[in-house]
Amino acid sequence: MTKHPMNWLDRAERHWPMTVGALPTLLVWVLTLAACSTAPTRSSAPPAKPAVTQVTPAVPPLRTPLIALPVPDPPPAPSEPDPAGAAPPAPDPATLIESAAVAAHFPEPPVRYRTPAFEPGRSGYTSNAELRSLMRALVRDGQGSANPTTVRLLQLGSSQTGVPLEALHFSRDPGALAGSGVTASPSRLVVLLVGQQHGDEPAGSEALIVIAQLLARDLEPGVAPGGLAAVLDRIDVVILPRANPDGTANERRATASGIDMNRDHLLLQTPEAQAQAQLVREFNPAVVVDAHEYAVLGRYVEKFGAVQRFDALVQYAMVANLPEFVTKASEEWFRQPMLQALRAQGLSSEWYYTTSTELANKKVSMGGVQPDTGRNVNGLRNAISFLIETRGIGLGHAHLQRRVHTHVTAVASVLKSAAARADDLRKLRRFVDADVAAKACHGDAVIEATATPSEYTLLMLDPLTGADKPVAVAWDSALELLPVKRRARPCGYWLGADQTDAVRRLRALGVQVQRFDQAGTLRAEAYTETAREVGARADVRGNLTDAGGLLRVSVSLLPALFDIDAGGYYVGLDQPLANLVIAAMEPDTQNSYLANRIVSSVNGLARVLRQPEARMSSVP
Ligand SMILES: [Zn+2]
Repeated sequence: MTKHPMNWLDRAERHWPMTVGALPTLLVWVLTLAACSTAPTRSSAPPAKPAVTQVTPAVPPLRTPLIALPVPDPPPAPSEPDPAGAAPPAPDPATLIESAAVAAHFPEPPVRYRTPAFEPGRSGYTSNAELRSLMRALVRDGQGSANPTTVRLLQLGSSQTGVPLEALHFSRDPGALAGSGVTASPSRLVVLLVGQQHGDEPAGSEALIVIAQLLARDLEPGVAPGGLAAVLDRIDVVILPRANPDGTANERRATASGIDMNRDHLLLQTPEAQAQAQLVREFNPAVVVDAHEYAVLGRYVEKFGAVQRFDALVQYAMVANLPEFVTKASEEWFRQPMLQALRAQGLSSEWYYTTSTELANKKVSMGGVQPDTGRNVNGLRNAISFLIETRGIGLGHAHLQRRVHTHVTAVASVLKSAAARADDLRKLRRFVDADVAAKACHGDAVIEATATPSEYTLLMLDPLTGADKPVAVAWDSALELLPVKRRARPCGYWLGADQTDAVRRLRALGVQVQRFDQAGTLRAEAYTETAREVGARADVRGNLTDAGGLLRVSVSLLPALFDIDAGGYYVGLDQPLANLVIAAMEPDTQNSYLANRIVSSVNGLARVLRQPEARMSSVP
């Protein structure tokens, strides 16, 4: 049986000030806070424009074919090959990319999935056109169920080549059922599932098609991880099954322009990241899952003489200023049950990790700690935010059933945890949102942090024999962040009247921005640029391909009283998205709006140290 290394969990628990046993304290705390608060009204923030539109498909009714069926006689699913047993099925020579001994570690799952990708003779995956047609059929399926589920098709604009970006909203909320038009502010807790931000990672998208059908058709237990639609009695689910259809069409990671959309969730340069921001802004999900696949062979064979062995690599948000209780809930309410659910299906898992694309660099890093990925940006929105990656890139169709089953199992676990914890999650979110806002003007904020260098023994597989191959690696741990730069947390930021591009992007993220209606005086700190060089944005894999022209500035701070004109902007930190604002505004980091030339100069930006007195009005 696979021996799963436990030392990371041990290390993580040492790092946390509270342990599992202390969890009831958190519950008592959030319960007390909830009891002290007034009626559970929604945020009083001005509603964002209802730009998500619902579409009614004008095609004749038709049930989608069943896309998840039990295998008639499920074979025993050994997690290790039996050397005395029958030889594993010979891989198709056209996709011979693993030795038979390695492939034998990954037997077919006990469920047979039948999305279009699994049609006989297919070498590709569910096409963009097939996906659109399936999504429309699922809207009708929801109406046909005995226990009706409202399934709404949401249009979020188009990709860079004009492919519609579409999502589905599943709800059994009587309000949603009774209402007409778009419910972009559901009253129930929302879980958002995102697939295929990277076009060459198909299993996430195929799995979300399966999840969508399980929800829409209320499939019987046993058909897949079953009875899943029961979660809709407690939560709403929004699914964006294919976030990057252009990348999918070309089977490449990036969007059509070459920008990696999963490093674009703070800057919002691509329409694909903007669409996702719109979905998050309007549905305000408490839980987000981002489904990916990871490279199995390639640079791991070249660097370590080994191939990858884990069915799933999993990580939640790990980024500077992330509220501690978001981390605790991610670990205890979601990751632990997910690992159990995977184990119960004979599926192995490890923390997510990756390695540089440079072959000379043998360091292995957990997922990045920058505020740029969906995982980290949604964490800074105070959501429980997971990355789930299956063993897929470079395998073609090999093990696709198992890869889809891994995602379906992990996502089903998240949905069940969210439904079971819906009340706790609501209280946690209310508490964390208020707590983040209350920190304005007080204490410190971490401006920049790095992962902690350490060592780790990672289990891989010998490419020929398939035997476990422990590999000692230099390992950057994201479980513990090292603050590189700290500053006092200001009350907010001033932006000059000409910084409209920054204001537009902050509003797209859902950040509240105000405009000065009159001139006045601000107690603030101005930035002075002391050095500048042109550099490249980088992540743990290396420089980003779209990384040209980044400004790396050094700054000093000068506190003073400033006369300001009417027309400038104020971005207060007394709001739930304050930590996201810090990531965008502090200029001397690689993801800041100044470094990425969205803010034009440090002269257009200042740290405000006392709540402004001049009259302001909200920017719509
Ligand atoms: Zn990916």
